Amino acid sequence: MKRILVTGGAGFVGSHLCERLLNEGNEVICLDNYFTGSKRNIEHLMDHHFFELVRHDVINPYMIEVDEIYNFACPASPIHYQYNPIKTTKTSVMGAINMLGLAKRVKAKILQASTSEIYGDPTEHPQKETYWGNVNTIGLRSCYDEGKRCAETLFMDYHIQNRVKIKIIRIFNTYGPRMHPNDGRVVSNFIVQALRGEDITVFGDGMQTRSFQYVDDLVEGTVRMMNTRDEFLGPVNIGNPNEFTMLELAQQILDLTGSKSKLTFKPLPQDDPMQRQPDISLAKRELKGWEPKIQLKEGLTHTIEYFDKLLKESW
Ligand code: NAD
Ligand code: UDP
Repeated sequence: MKRILVTGGAGFVGSHLCERLLNEGNEVICLDNYFTGSKRNIEHLMDHHFFELVRHDVINPYMIEVDEIYNFACPASPIHYQYNPIKTTKTSVMGAINMLGLAKRVKAKILQASTSEIYGDPTEHPQKETYWGNVNTIGLRSCYDEGKRCAETLFMDYHIQNRVKIKIIRIFNTYGPRMHPNDGRVVSNFIVQALRGEDITVFGDGMQTRSFQYVDDLVEGTVRMMNTRDEFLGPVNIGNPNEFTMLELAQQILDLTGSKSKLTFKPLPQDDPMQRQPDISLAKRELKGWEPKIQLKEGLTHTIEYFDKLLKESW
């Protein structure tokens, strides 16, 4: 049994990760400041003997004895990370420094949830880990992109300078149950709009692409990455390479919900990447043949079920 700290554990991905680690027989400490996460996401774990919940902000140091740390604390949706951009950069940078300092002191292994956003609006397609990215340093998305880029630098330097055992994953767009219904991300927006019979808000002409990964595939890749050989640090892309335009996504959601919602076109936000698709050959090689198992139709069906129940409960 390992004692594991999950920062951002009350968020969408973090809550699934806590559940998985508990199911494997570990002791899990979930640390969160509830900025975008909620107790509701983890309330089913509260009675578990080996689960502990801590309200804490990662921009402040935290002391605990643990074997492993999964550093997931950071708002991930554009409306949330742009709400207080200075805090977003602080969360990524100071959060990384505090958690790396903790890992160094207690000799824990630490995994960083980095992002495909570090590639910015990519000029290379699909994106391999060797691509350095195309990021605006002073745009609306910079607080998130540059914060995450700096966190990767800190991880690598703590490894080189202090021999901290690190792992870095670059997560591509992930969706599934427990996404925040109002977090503005495209999958949750389109599903909630379709279920409520409201217009589906397509930004730009809807021809921009994303590659959507179901949360269970991400959790599997994340746990496998933590357990790779010590010399393998990453960064490694974790995502589903099947790429869709936003118009295709909207159509699939309309078909699956049977909704009569109409599409409405809104301006494309600043610096919105036109395309994004992971090259996952490194992950397949290093993570014991890991690859996404749940394709869009199946994943959307589970997610629609979740939101349908949630919306009925809150009405
Ligand atoms: P989320 O917003 O649901 O979860 C983030 C969690 O971190 C929330 O519970 C929030 O309350 C907590 N948090 C935020 N700031 C904090 C702080 N200063 N101190 C303590 N806790 C704090 O988002 P998510 O989609 O679950 O993303 C989790 C992680 O995965 C993030 O680091 C994100 O950058 C990364 N990621 C997610 C995606 C995706 O598509 N979901 C893609 C790339 C990277
Ligand atoms: N998007 C959209 N309608 C929405 C929300 C988002 O068309 O209601 C678009 C957005 O412009 C982007 C894509 O969907 O091109 C994915 O957006 P999301 O915020 O989910 O993720 P990210 O841009 O961070 O990849």
